Amino acid sequence: MKIKITLPDGSVREYPKGTTAEEIASGIGKRLGEDAVLAKVNDKIKDLHDPINEDTNIKIITLKDKEGLDALRHSVAHLLAAAVMELWPNTKRTIGPPIENGFYYDFEFEAPISEEDLPKIESKMRGILPTWDRFERSEHSAADAKREFHGNQFKIELIEELSKDGKKLSFYKSGNYTDLCRGGHLPSMKMLKPDSFKLTHLAGAYWRGKSENPQLTRIYGVAFANKKELDDYLKQLDEAEKRDHRKIGKELDLFSFNELTPGSPFFHPKGAWMFIRLQSFLRELYPSWGYQEVITPLIYDSELWKTSGHWDHFRENMFEVEMDHKKAALKPMNCPSHILIYKTKARSYRDLPLRITDFAPLHRNEIKGTLGGLMRVRKFSQDDCHVFCTPEHIKKEVRAHIAHAKYVYDVFGFDFRVELSTRPENSMGSAKMWEAAEKSLKEVLDESGLKYNLNPGEGAFYGPKIDFHIKDALGRSWQCGTEQLDFQMPQRFNVEYTGADNTAHTAVMLHRTVLGSIERFLGILIEHFAGKFPLWLSPVQIRILTVADRFEKYATGLKNEFEKNSLRVEVDSRTESISKKVFEAEMERIPLIIVVGEKEEAANSVSVRTLEDKKIKFGIKTEEFLNRVLDNIKNRDLKFNI
Ligand SMILES: [Zn+2]
Ligand SMILES: [Zn+2]
Repeated sequence: MKIKITLPDGSVREYPKGTTAEEIASGIGKRLGEDAVLAKVNDKIKDLHDPINEDTNIKIITLKDKEGLDALRHSVAHLLAAAVMELWPNTKRTIGPPIENGFYYDFEFEAPISEEDLPKIESKMRGILPTWDRFERSEHSAADAKREFHGNQFKIELIEELSKDGKKLSFYKSGNYTDLCRGGHLPSMKMLKPDSFKLTHLAGAYWRGKSENPQLTRIYGVAFANKKELDDYLKQLDEAEKRDHRKIGKELDLFSFNELTPGSPFFHPKGAWMFIRLQSFLRELYPSWGYQEVITPLIYDSELWKTSGHWDHFRENMFEVEMDHKKAALKPMNCPSHILIYKTKARSYRDLPLRITDFAPLHRNEIKGTLGGLMRVRKFSQDDCHVFCTPEHIKKEVRAHIAHAKYVYDVFGFDFRVELSTRPENSMGSAKMWEAAEKSLKEVLDESGLKYNLNPGEGAFYGPKIDFHIKDALGRSWQCGTEQLDFQMPQRFNVEYTGADNTAHTAVMLHRTVLGSIERFLGILIEHFAGKFPLWLSPVQIRILTVADRFEKYATGLKNEFEKNSLRVEVDSRTESISKKVFEAEMERIPLIIVVGEKEEAANSVSVRTLEDKKIKFGIKTEEFLNRVLDNIKNRDLKFNI
């Protein structure tokens, strides 16, 4: 009997029934046979050794695929547990899954261990590794399994759960180490390079994530296909740590947080200036985008949230307050506010598209443990625009929004990619409407020439959407902008317009942003630029250093002149050495450092050093320098060339 196997390139091959994925991989090529980790059979992950008995699609998974790396990382978690059990035999093991970039394993140690123990564990792992090859699977009854893990209440709990309906439990044995596991390993540990993994840190973790349970010790590690990938990752991690916006935010005195209002940033003068600068940047663009800015309330009666659906679906994330002895809440999004403005008068198709935008603060009651600097906050503002339009407008609107996003991201030097998410299962609105909307989004994306990924079924229940993901200097991806079509909210609120046919129609609503949360965008910018902002965005643009205190008057005169042109300038006239003053200005990441002394004063000139490329130019006429600075700021250049 032959079966037909369809490969990812669409080609079909015939094999005898019972062929394994391993044989198929080796048949395609020796290299693929060696690199194969798992197989995806009809979109399900299978072991390489499982026989295949029917016609099917198959994809061979290697360490280039996420699933392959997951198998490698999970296999290293076994190795970690084996090493820990050899070093501290009375330890109780729990679980060890793969995670992004690595793995962890949770243990209950008899006596606490510290991060200083990690090298010892790591070298034990390397010692054990050569004695391991394949993971041998065996099946056991619950009673057998409990005997094996006698005294380990964590594994016993898992065994009881997994064997509830009399199911057998699978064990995997590698070398002398056996663990309860459902599978997903490397076909051979020979594929794991001894220098391609590293233990990184310890953390406390509650058993099954519940605070009423015992606290365990979690050992984290990272693992990759080879040493180079591990090294690249560690280097990037190191760079990311140096650029951490919380660290730089503190060094540059941009913002702080206070336990009295967790997750709500305090922007200090310099941070606030940057925040406002971002808003002003957009406000300058708004007239040409046809946007009209509004100012709206923060607190609304719960009646509004019932109509919008938030009371049923989002209430946990809202801060509730009382207003006129009734329940009310702080708004988590602006959409209903803009609908209320829309509905203050009758609208005709001739009034559309109507584009309303708002920087109002929004509040979302995020879980405290998930808050992180500016990236995840409870209070934030968005460049939040809502377009009310007719179905015929959609295409043109989407096209315009892509152009807006591209323009803005270019200013910061961000590349971006686009994702299109389509109709999910529990969608609202007619199939016809969805098809038309998705078709117009696709057409616009195709004609834009942008590469985009399709996420079938990942759209919001109220409409399809496109998301913009920007790529920062470290190659990390951040979703910022979005354009979401919404057929639902306009129906809930009866958002109507009079059509050319003189009858009432329900408007289409587009929810859109370019920056997204401005707080978060600022966090991204701090890390992207490592605190070395372009001149137009820099909270201090120029610092004037005097070579001796008798030049203070000249320095102050320059400062006044620059400030008249709205520049942000500081003078350092302390009796410190110039090298020390330059060093400090560099540490504070001030983009332009001016040094003034005898020659400069006599010629009404300045000597300029740039932070970014550390170039120095002597004796530039003050007026020329000022003009070049103003030009640079006006153009929002990324660099200042002297
Ligand atoms: Zn396992
Ligand atoms: Zn909205």
